[in-house]
Amino acid sequence: MTPKSAAAQARATVYGYPRQGRNRELKKAVEGYWKGRVTAGALRATAAELRRSNWRQLDDAGVHEVPTGDFSYYDHVLDTTVMVGAIPERHRAAVTADPLDGYFAMARGTQEVAPLEMTKWFDTNYHYLVPELGPGTVFTADSGKQVAELKEALAQRLTARPVLVGPVTYLLLAKPAPGVAADFEPLTLLDRLLPVYAEVLADLRAAGAEWVQLDEPALVQDRTPAELNAAERAYRALGALTDRPKVLIASYFDRLGDALPVLAKAPVEGLALDFTETAAANLDALATVGGLPGKRLVAGVVNGRNIWINDLQKSLSTLGTLLGLAGRVDVAASCSLLHVPLDTNTERDIDPQILRWLAFSKQKTAEIVTLAKGLAQGTHTVSGELAANRADLASRAGSPITRDRAVRARTEAVTDADAHRSQAYAERSAAQRAHLRLPLLPTTTIGSFPQTGELRAARADLRAGRIDTAGYEERIEAEIQEVISFQEKTGIDVLVHGEPERNDMVQYFAEQLTGYLATQHGWVQSYGTRYVRPPILAGDISRPGPMTVRWTTYAQSLTDRPVKGMLTGPVTMLAWSFVRDDQPLGDTARQVALALRDEVNDLEAAGTSVIQVDEPALREALPLRAADRAGYLVWATEAFRLTTAGVRPDTQIHTHMCYAEFGDIVRAIDDLDADVVSLEAARSHMQVARELAAHGYPREAGPGVYDIHSPRVPGAGETAGLLRTGLEAIPAERLWVNPDCGLKTRAWPETRASLENLVAAARTVRGEL
Ligand code: GLN
Ligand code: ZN
Repeated sequence: MTPKSAAAQARATVYGYPRQGRNRELKKAVEGYWKGRVTAGALRATAAELRRSNWRQLDDAGVHEVPTGDFSYYDHVLDTTVMVGAIPERHRAAVTADPLDGYFAMARGTQEVAPLEMTKWFDTNYHYLVPELGPGTVFTADSGKQVAELKEALAQRLTARPVLVGPVTYLLLAKPAPGVAADFEPLTLLDRLLPVYAEVLADLRAAGAEWVQLDEPALVQDRTPAELNAAERAYRALGALTDRPKVLIASYFDRLGDALPVLAKAPVEGLALDFTETAAANLDALATVGGLPGKRLVAGVVNGRNIWINDLQKSLSTLGTLLGLAGRVDVAASCSLLHVPLDTNTERDIDPQILRWLAFSKQKTAEIVTLAKGLAQGTHTVSGELAANRADLASRAGSPITRDRAVRARTEAVTDADAHRSQAYAERSAAQRAHLRLPLLPTTTIGSFPQTGELRAARADLRAGRIDTAGYEERIEAEIQEVISFQEKTGIDVLVHGEPERNDMVQYFAEQLTGYLATQHGWVQSYGTRYVRPPILAGDISRPGPMTVRWTTYAQSLTDRPVKGMLTGPVTMLAWSFVRDDQPLGDTARQVALALRDEVNDLEAAGTSVIQVDEPALREALPLRAADRAGYLVWATEAFRLTTAGVRPDTQIHTHMCYAEFGDIVRAIDDLDADVVSLEAARSHMQVARELAAHGYPREAGPGVYDIHSPRVPGAGETAGLLRTGLEAIPAERLWVNPDCGLKTRAWPETRASLENLVAAARTVRGEL
């Protein structure tokens, strides 16, 4: 028998599927379980049904090999922690007493014990629970979840491939456990971890797995030779096992770079690579190492993290090239479909023509199947799909929505001067001092005040038609009155209106900008049971009219103190949305910046002297590879300056950032040319103040002195202590007093008490100057 050609064997597969279910059944079941309304048995049954229906959908769509183990009650990295037995000491009793409750205790903490830390999964908006490891960590294999889910899929008579976080990525994502030296390197535990993976692989083989996928996305980041060595050693050891399924090492989110030759040579049977635009270098790199002769290549040609239809013809041509480079080529999305919503067909508010440009999980799955069929049986077998795809791509490319003449003319006319304030920082700082007449150590907040149940009810009432716009606006105005009067009474110097009208800091603006789409059901898991609906930057962006001026001027009409205008910056608008793939990110950022610039200028014209443009995502949107960062920072900082540079010298521009270590972006923060920056700092005892000072940061800064992530009320003495620490790094003339971030997640009682203490602390420390 002659071996089949690589093409004829082409199969369709995915690495993971959204977990939540059509109506977010998983969220409801898990949260119901936490509240005691859903039994453990009912939760398990809901979960099993969701897995079953996901696999059935994939199978019905024509996927040849379904993933298992990608499902999670909370997070797949936490599942891996359970699989390798790395339960933190403080959670052990709970996990032994009840594995499910112990699992949720690790995820969310309890009254007695803190949860694992949560952080972003690479450069996505998914958050995982960080493994805590130390020299004393003992790993033990617990393949229960993986084996059970594989068996479920096999019982449905499906070809199934368990998907696990790989051992190298697992260790690279871990951090030293509390009490362990900060310089402990979890990767040193590799030799202890590998036998556990060996055991899990053997169990999966015994349960019927032909293939197992080990995800190693950490290898698409810049890695040291020692780390690459560890990867080489890990897969030499796993490859040498005799009792194991075939192993597919998967990489995604970027190119593999130096890790590609390491993984290509590893004694395993397959490699999955990202072939989307950011990772395009994988193609040449694969050819350079001589391909994967005799091995399975899984080609991630369908972008698993954007929501645009694929260019099927282009993908087929990439796949055709790849055929010559491997023993067998399969087709997949570039990463798990966890990062995109479920199904475009449930969207009712999006123009049907535009809907045809969009692909969520279900549509992406269909694309993968089409591509695999085209590859295996010839493009003539998918000519109908190709023709429809060509028409949809043409409709998108030629649409006035993606090509708005006026927007394009304006972005092209932008000059360097537009992105620079008319005066240098030192001069305008003096003008602002004269204009604003603030005390030393001025106090302010970051923008939002508690988003109360009443505010959410008002929004729901408006949506449901129970109140009209006028009724809604009355409620918002009443809230603004309360927020302003509280701040005046408390003695805060620069006030805010409290953002009661905003459902979300990105969506609020997206809904008002032309070219942006909001979805009704486009939920994507952010962490645990928290799902977000990122808006879609679909076309050229313009601002039909002012977005915030009405609320800011209303607030200003109630007080003589300055009210700070409040906007979300262009980089954050991009980072928390689905972005266009048909033009460079910098071009989209520039369009958003120009729309926001008009808002900034309108606020100034309406009498606003202080305007804050939030960029909490500046740091997190940094590209994974260092080589790509400088280019990003150029367009990102330019977009911020374009947003803010149109104002008078005596108008004070603030910016705000959180969720980050700032040390490596102080230069970029300086390049924003904002007059004042507020940063998260309370939990790190003003570390960021020292970082700013170390870099000679010349502007005003407000390192947060109130940790808003917890209901705890910091005392005035404690807050004054943080201020004194801040003063060691930043002189009094340039130090602001503010919380770490907005107060929207806090309740009123702790907000009141904490801000009163904050003002008292500022007064005390002013007295010491
Ligand atoms: N102005 C926003 C608020 O206060 C900032 C939120 C953020 O940085 N994430 O809510
Ligand atoms: Zn913040």
